[in-house]
Amino acid sequence: MNMIANHPPTSELQALDAAHHMHPFTHAGELKDKGARVIARANGVTLTDTDGNDYLDAMAGLWCVNIGYGREEMAEAAARQMRELPYYNTFFQTTHVPAIALANKLAQLAPDTLNHVFFAGSGSEANDTNIRMVRTYWAQKGHPEKNIIISRKNAYHGSSMGSGSLGGMTFMHEQGGLPIPDIHHIDQPHWWAEGGDMTPEEFGLERARQLEAKIEELGADRVAAFIGEPIQGAGGVIIPPSTYWPEIQRICDKHGILLIADEVICAFGRTGKWFASETLGIRPHIMTIAKGLSSGYAPIGGSIVCDEVAEVINNCEFAHGYTYSGHPMTCAVALENLRILEEEGIVDNVANHTAAYLAKKWATLGDHPLVGEASTIGMMGAIQLTPDAERRAKFAGNEGDVGLITREHCFKNGLVMRHVGDRMIISPPLVITDAEIDTLVERAWIALDLAHKQVEAEGKMKAA
Ligand SMILES: *Cc1c(COP(=O)(O)O)cnc(C)c1O
Repeated sequence: MNMIANHPPTSELQALDAAHHMHPFTHAGELKDKGARVIARANGVTLTDTDGNDYLDAMAGLWCVNIGYGREEMAEAAARQMRELPYYNTFFQTTHVPAIALANKLAQLAPDTLNHVFFAGSGSEANDTNIRMVRTYWAQKGHPEKNIIISRKNAYHGSSMGSGSLGGMTFMHEQGGLPIPDIHHIDQPHWWAEGGDMTPEEFGLERARQLEAKIEELGADRVAAFIGEPIQGAGGVIIPPSTYWPEIQRICDKHGILLIADEVICAFGRTGKWFASETLGIRPHIMTIAKGLSSGYAPIGGSIVCDEVAEVINNCEFAHGYTYSGHPMTCAVALENLRILEEEGIVDNVANHTAAYLAKKWATLGDHPLVGEASTIGMMGAIQLTPDAERRAKFAGNEGDVGLITREHCFKNGLVMRHVGDRMIISPPLVITDAEIDTLVERAWIALDLAHKQVEAEGKMKAA
């Protein structure tokens, strides 16, 4: 029997899942009793589970399904390429048409001199590439001691040893011996939670200047690069104050350190441009890409590298690569995704219409008594839950309790919204319609109401 086509009932699937399938970022013991939600199908912005329940997917999977689900052309592109050439590698002086075509397309789309692409299978792999690439760059230039990379607390750059070390998630560092040496973290530009009495603009400058202080403390002759997400995603859709990135850019320029923009979430239309670096005026030497590159239809990531860095790296044998670097099927799928984004005007439509519509509707959630702030940039949004908006207070109980309660109510009301601590976040498919945005916001309001009632009933509406 083909178990995928003729699958057993949900409860049996859940039991098999618990017995044999180890999940990422999951407390398996707790999930075992509840049973995982089994997603069966999807179309547009809608997921359907094995019991036939529909959900509006306000997270685009895991920030990746930019063109929406169910695009037949993507399946065709994969099938066509698998028939023609299902696999060949790009090691040892070989290449193939899909990798050439995709690298060429990305070089056209990317700003400035970002003209060279090193492929990987994921964002984590691409950031591991970046660690080795920036260190190799400086070693080639006669500065092997220039190997420190500065990142931010609460950053997310992936889950491998290297990328997990770049990330600033302490609960990840507690497992498995992270971070690797010579990675340093400065504070994040999260005004709502950490800005105190400063204005957002003052706070943005203060946080950016921590980079300069860190460079001076460690010595510019030791620092290879700074890495940051233009907008922190997994950390809670944290939109930096307007003063932050210009100051970071100034400091990187002044001290001659490489700037890596981790665009894994923010690229491919998420902010209304191909890359968020364009939206925020960042001029990176390297951009990390994945997720929206294929709209999640195939696993692919990569690094887009500027002329200056590529020239130095190309002067040696860069002893690095993945079996699936530039995998032909994933490249063909990514190319088809970029074609759809471009020819259907999806990126332009975000800039000219959808982002503004989402911003307007999302802002109404700011009036809810459980909400302290409702913000968006492009097609990413966050709402900060709080017992006291005026004081920007945290809840007295465990951080994330109220967020989890709210998330459960979202699910029960047909909406997938994620919580990061007590922040609720969205990053919907870019093709979401106005009517679907209305539905999203209506369901979010209902979930907030139900969560608010429950939080009050449980005596959790108390400020820390
Ligand atoms: C998801 C993510 C990654 C890691 O990508 P994977 O494909 O999961 O390895 C890296 N950086 C950012 C900003 C991400 O959001």
